[in-house]
Amino acid sequence: MSEEVFKKVVSHAKEYGFVFPSSEIYEGLGAVYDYGQNGAELKNNLRQYWWKSMVQMHENIVGIDAAIFMHPKVWKASGHIDGFSDPMIDNKDSKKRYRADQLLEDKIERYNKDGKTQKAEELQAAMDQALLDNNLAELKNLIEKHEIACPVSGTRTWTDVRQFNLMFSTEMGAMAGGEADKVYLRPETAQGIFVNFLNVQKTGRMKVPFGIAQTGKAFRNEIIARQFIMRMREFEQMEMQFFVRPGTQKEWYAYWKEARMKWHHKLGFGPEKYRFHDHVKLAHYADAAVDIEFDFPFGFKEMEGIHSRTDFDLRNHGELSGKKLQYFDAELDENGKAYGNYIPYVIETSIGLDRLFLATMCAAYKEEEVGEGDKKDTRVVLALPPALAPIKLAVFPLTKRDGLPEIARNIIDDLKFDFNCFYEEKDAIGKRYRRQDALGTPFCITIDHESLTTNTVTIRYRDTMVQERIGIDQIKALVSEAVSWKNLLA
Ligand code: ATP
Repeated sequence: MSEEVFKKVVSHAKEYGFVFPSSEIYEGLGAVYDYGQNGAELKNNLRQYWWKSMVQMHENIVGIDAAIFMHPKVWKASGHIDGFSDPMIDNKDSKKRYRADQLLEDKIERYNKDGKTQKAEELQAAMDQALLDNNLAELKNLIEKHEIACPVSGTRTWTDVRQFNLMFSTEMGAMAGGEADKVYLRPETAQGIFVNFLNVQKTGRMKVPFGIAQTGKAFRNEIIARQFIMRMREFEQMEMQFFVRPGTQKEWYAYWKEARMKWHHKLGFGPEKYRFHDHVKLAHYADAAVDIEFDFPFGFKEMEGIHSRTDFDLRNHGELSGKKLQYFDAELDENGKAYGNYIPYVIETSIGLDRLFLATMCAAYKEEEVGEGDKKDTRVVLALPPALAPIKLAVFPLTKRDGLPEIARNIIDDLKFDFNCFYEEKDAIGKRYRRQDALGTPFCITIDHESLTTNTVTIRYRDTMVQERIGIDQIKALVSEAVSWKNLLA
């Protein structure tokens, strides 16, 4: 898929009520977006797919919902106050700020496009090394050496590279003021899980290995915010921390890597759309890390991270809080001795809900040639897995008269407890079908005059556009089966 199709997906998202720029009447707010009536449904369904697969499908994983505000010491212990930053560089002429590594990444991409693969490889290696060493001077040196110019001013007058912390802060309390009252908007949901480790383990009587899952908002003051909802300043994460015995983290890391890839494949968009990308530069807390990348229209990019986080977080929180964040393992090892007290190791799976949403929209968006001769036309269809569709069933009376709307309403009144239904009586039937195709609605039902005497309706299938006659009493079973979560979870 090309950049051009990506533009179409973005305008489709707006036109059909999936995603709007935040505060649009005031010209929007950078890298902040709102989900519209259909977007909220799709997002909700994606969240549910994740939640059910983690919590409902695993006896040893439970879910929590921690607050966005946390004690400021949390971010000290987690390393975010000292280390959660990006290397930034400013162009002196345009006054625009860039992430130094992204300027270099763009250059590498350009070298590759121009067939200069050796240059691309050399620059990649030099950049990776500079990032590993946290060598900011070398990053600037590479930008100058490779003659990278500011995309806005076109000049190469750069400031030094500096680290810029990505956390948003605010003040808490009526008398707020100064450093003492500073609180942060969480930049990841994971810490809400770590600080509740003992609460959940004890009250849930959880036994290692076990997991705690959570979905929720996270905030990062991203400098370069582009590609629509790919990189936002306010976004949603779905994270799961899996606590294991020290020494077993490699096996569990392999297990979750495979499990998460399978989960993506289940969506049915094709395995070629996904790939693993191992991290060269490991975050301060990790002993192994891999991304699941998705083939977005602008290239393969990270959608989910799987990190072996060691005991870094629990250990640091234990030290800073003075509370023992340990687990007593009564099971016996091969020598017949209890494992005893230890700080569990952690495998984390972390996916951005908004990126998953974007990937889903891009993969599901299709333009198809339909009809023949002067009836030739293009139809836009969102080929979403039925369980994810915002609307499962649209019900149309052919006309507004003769008792047809009443039959349609009765069908909806019977089915609305089980799934999202939609009623519409305006416009020609063909037009109504097309609008539902564009929203991803898997089934449309039309009530005509025959329905009055035979208790039958026409059902039309989104993907094949096939229409057939079925009894009104068959609708529920047919739709329920098709939209069942079992199709994605089993
Ligand atoms: P990136 O390298 O793209 O900035 P990251 O490695 O910092 O991402 P993590 O900290 O591992 O990301 O966060 C886990 C997941 O959260 C990512 O895989 C991504 O899906 C999502 N995510 C992170 N930052 C953003 C953002 N600014 N907007 C939307 N989603 C995000």
